[in-house]
Amino acid sequence: MTFKKESKRCYKCNTKLKHYAGVGDFCPNTKCDAIDNVNGFDDSFVSRFKNKGEELVRLIKQAFNIAVTVVLSFLFIVGILAFCYCLFVIYIEIISQFFRIV
Ligand SMILES: [Zn+2]
Repeated sequence: MTFKKESKRCYKCNTKLKHYAGVGDFCPNTKCDAIDNVNGFDDSFVSRFKNKGEELVRLIKQAFNIAVTVVLSFLFIVGILAFCYCLFVIYIEIISQFFRIV
C-alpha cells in the first residue's frame, strides 16, 4: 500500500488529508475525531436512507409480483371452470339429443 498526497484538507482540523489505496481519504491527525468522515457529511445516514429506498422498491416489486400471480391464477381457475362448464353443457346437450333420438 502506498500513500498518495492529496490537496484536500480535513473539514475539522484543516490538516492535509492522506489517501490510502482502497480506504479513501482520511485525516492523519490523531487528535482529530473526523478520521473516517473527512467530508463532513453523514455517509451512514445517506446509505441507510438509500437502503430503505431500495428495500421499499424491492417490497413494491414483490407485492406487484404476488398480485400479478394471484390475478393470473384466479383467471386461470375461472378459465378452467368456464371450460369445464362448457364441456358439461355440451355433454348434457349431446346426451339429451341422443336419448331423444333413441
Ligand atoms: Zn482532521
